[in-house]
Amino acid sequence: MKVVVLRLGHRYGRDKRLSTHVALTARAFGAKEVVFDAVDREVEESINAVSSSWGGSFKVSFTDGWKKYVKNFKGDIVHLTMYGLPVGKVVGKLRKSRKDKLVIVGSQKVPSEVYQMASYNAAVGSQPHSEVAALAVFLDRLFAGRQLMKRFGGRIEIVPQARGKRMVENR
Ligand code: SAM
Repeated sequence: MKVVVLRLGHRYGRDKRLSTHVALTARAFGAKEVVFDAVDREVEESINAVSSSWGGSFKVSFTDGWKKYVKNFKGDIVHLTMYGLPVGKVVGKLRKSRKDKLVIVGSQKVPSEVYQMASYNAAVGSQPHSEVAALAVFLDRLFAGRQLMKRFGGRIEIVPQARGKRMVENR
């Protein structure tokens, strides 16, 4: 099961940091790809720089037609929104289906079509918070925590310590 995250409403300049965090969270929590609806080479470069040091095969892509992208996606479409059904109620079905997942997160107001196009509108609590928090909790529930044990096989790896920092450099 491949997970792709679609980040809607990226505003060049203003959303750089948050969109980068969406992508890094997607990568660290088990997604294979992030797709933005606006081209931002700086965001792409900073994510690719992380992947080249820390490993994995995470992909950054752009689309200039998100509706078509969503329509053509073969798998379950999950839109994260505080207005949706509790994540705990939908995650069981999503895990069972084994299909690829497209997880949609917004920045500002999401176009109303998204609610209709989604197979599931899922809420991480019914309070407003952040796309980064919503994505992290959703992916953690979807993968039941297993993604946090994944090794990325990067040039740099952390050796977990009770105290202090230890890293190894792989050649
Ligand atoms: N007022 C906006 C709206 O009506 O969609 C909220 C935007 S919020 C700052 C940005 C994104 O965070 C949302 O599009 C959604 O993907 C995600 N988000 C925020 N709170 C959420 C929640 N409780 N559950 C799921 N996703 C949430």
